[in-house]
Amino acid sequence: FLSARSLPLTGSSSSHTNSEKQRFLDHREFIRKTRESLPIYFCRSELLRYIGENSVSIIMGETGSGKTTQLVQYLYEVGYASGGKQIGCTQPRRLAAIGVSTRVAEEVGCTLGTTVGYSIHLDDMTTEQTKIRFMTDGVLLREVVNDPFLEKYSVIVMDEAHERSMDTDVLLGVLKGICRRRSDLKVIVTSATMNIMKFSAFFNNAPYYEIPGKTFDVELEYASTPVEDYVHAAVIKAMEIHVRATLDSEKQHSDTTTTTTGTTPPPTDDNGGDILIFMTGRDDVYGACALLKQRLHSMRRPSGEHWDETLLIIPCMSEAVQNSAASAVLFDPAPPGMRKCIISTNVAETSLTIHGIRYVIDCGMMKTNVFHPTFGMNTLKRYPTSKAQSNQRKGRAGRTAKGTCFRLFTREQFTNEMLPATIPEIQRSSVDTVVLLLKSIGVRDLSGFDFIDAPPEANMRSSLWQLWLFGALDDAGDITESGRCMLEFPVNPTLANILIHSTRLKCSAEVLSIVAMLSADVKSLFEMPAGKEEDARQAHGRFANGESDHLTYLNVYQQYQQPGAGGGRQWAREHFLNVTVLERAIHVREQLVEKMQRLKLDIASAGDGETDVIRRCLVHGYSLQAARKVAGKWSEYQSLLNVGVTCHVVPSSSILNAGTVPEYIIYDDLMFTTKEYFVTVTAVDPAWLVAVGRGLYTINGGGSGAAVDMGGSGDEWAVTLSSSCNAAKELRAERAA
Ligand code: ADP
Ligand code: MG
Repeated sequence: FLSARSLPLTGSSSSHTNSEKQRFLDHREFIRKTRESLPIYFCRSELLRYIGENSVSIIMGETGSGKTTQLVQYLYEVGYASGGKQIGCTQPRRLAAIGVSTRVAEEVGCTLGTTVGYSIHLDDMTTEQTKIRFMTDGVLLREVVNDPFLEKYSVIVMDEAHERSMDTDVLLGVLKGICRRRSDLKVIVTSATMNIMKFSAFFNNAPYYEIPGKTFDVELEYASTPVEDYVHAAVIKAMEIHVRATLDSEKQHSDTTTTTTGTTPPPTDDNGGDILIFMTGRDDVYGACALLKQRLHSMRRPSGEHWDETLLIIPCMSEAVQNSAASAVLFDPAPPGMRKCIISTNVAETSLTIHGIRYVIDCGMMKTNVFHPTFGMNTLKRYPTSKAQSNQRKGRAGRTAKGTCFRLFTREQFTNEMLPATIPEIQRSSVDTVVLLLKSIGVRDLSGFDFIDAPPEANMRSSLWQLWLFGALDDAGDITESGRCMLEFPVNPTLANILIHSTRLKCSAEVLSIVAMLSADVKSLFEMPAGKEEDARQAHGRFANGESDHLTYLNVYQQYQQPGAGGGRQWAREHFLNVTVLERAIHVREQLVEKMQRLKLDIASAGDGETDVIRRCLVHGYSLQAARKVAGKWSEYQSLLNVGVTCHVVPSSSILNAGTVPEYIIYDDLMFTTKEYFVTVTAVDPAWLVAVGRGLYTINGGGSGAAVDMGGSGDEWAVTLSSSCNAAKELRAERAA
């Protein structure tokens, strides 16, 4: 504990120590006052009584009422962490777990990682002494594999349950089962004001508790016609608001001063309210920030001041909450005479609360992962938000005073095109990991599992086949040793299978680096600063491997890792590489190495220049993501699993740099811009596809190989799905449906 006692309160009388002490005490006092002003504080004892009386509690409260930060502290204060038990609190997002635990550690007055800690995939900041443990839902789910009754917890708070992430949904079912066997376990589900009846119904009509809170009216303004470019429209709206609100508050100011004293008034705290803009992702957020700054800078006031000088433009993404300098800018009031304009992804919808927002601009869109049945994988795409989500966004304007919400869509679009509520992730995503997890905790009949909303059966079947092909499930559908091994890795079964095979093929050292890069948001690795595109392209060109984007990433990683030979941060910046991605990849790799060692999987290097074996190893994960070139086309490929479907390789792929393009490829991902593209592609020898797992592919040779022949010469041989492989048949049928 960092308590007042641990400071040098006695003995020294130096003013330095005294002011330090005073600052510390002021800060503690400030935290106490803040805590005691939150809506949840006023119902603390009633809430604790309600929790005491029920084995499952469902708590609903407006965002900002104190559910996330206070509830766990109350439980701790009244002794739920005694007897060696822990208080667990799950978060749907990794970065939220870090951000929230940082805040709670500060409020409790301890160093993060002691009394209060967090565990996320690839990063554990807890010790034996930890009493309040924040984690992602996924981490807790994996704990169930080794500790089926979650014995080390006395309470589990499932926070932000309304987000209905895939792991949240599975965890709800698992916890419901555990509660039946452990009467001493308390489960608390907290949610913003959405979905509450659904949770109650799921837990056999458990009573729910609503934290009383005060909110103000929010006026709504819709677009009169559908908006084409919401970044542009949001910027224009923000400019209007800023200029009008500034002029209004100056006018009010001068009115009151002339009627009272006639002298210059002291600056008021009230700047007329801050602005919050909802965009869909990193690109939009930065794009809108830059455009708003530029537009306002080009406008001058009569005094000569540029309009951007009084607007503090702050990008806000989940990363912001883990960095204390960045979060201070976000949470602190704007400096006098300034207004804040926060441009955010949907993190500001429910998981963090910023005071003083009186204007919300909602683009009506979000980015989300959706299962693409034709390709059998998830893709990130922009979609309209649901009605519930847009109403939640609107509510952000009415926290401190009356507010206004500008919707960048028409009333008709809201009424006719938006779904009432967001479809839970489990019903729109690939369920490979879920299926494997459930199998590992002994759920044999997946359709009998108590899902709050069951995933479509077709998705479950497709995952079962894929896992069987990977050798993660046996013929009876039970999990194998290899399947358990895959679950140990904090990556999807595709990448886990590649890691497992790399030991046998003696190329783990390289494969670990590739998997680490893929897990580190590698899509933002190559930077293209405006005006320096040509320099950047040249710098990036030296890493390109004409056979493989995976190997291109490996080149970058290996060169970065050799500061003596020219790598390192400065080197990375000179080569227009994103240092954050590289540092994260190093961190991820370390954790993967640790896992490999624990699982007694050898880590050997393929050796310099030995890249074929690495490409061969990749096929073990991507066997269902294979495609063959369409005859006579440059970068167009047809899926081997779904023969009629063709797709282009993304133009930036390094395999398009060489003079020729390969006949067969595997791909890591799909991307949508104006059309669909395969991204992160590697050329493969078709014989490798035939050799891989359970006879999925076969060679159709000479003469009658018409099955995948799209107009080439009639007698070439080709690799096709095997007609004797049931998985192949079933998967093909699923994809075609
Ligand atoms: P809820 O979970 O009900 O939405 P929280 O517990 O997250 O509420 O937030 C309670 C209050 O704590 C809010 O007013 C919020 O602004 C404040 N808060 C949360 N995190 C931080 C932080 N890192 N820095 C400053 N204030 C914070
Ligand atoms: Mg919260």
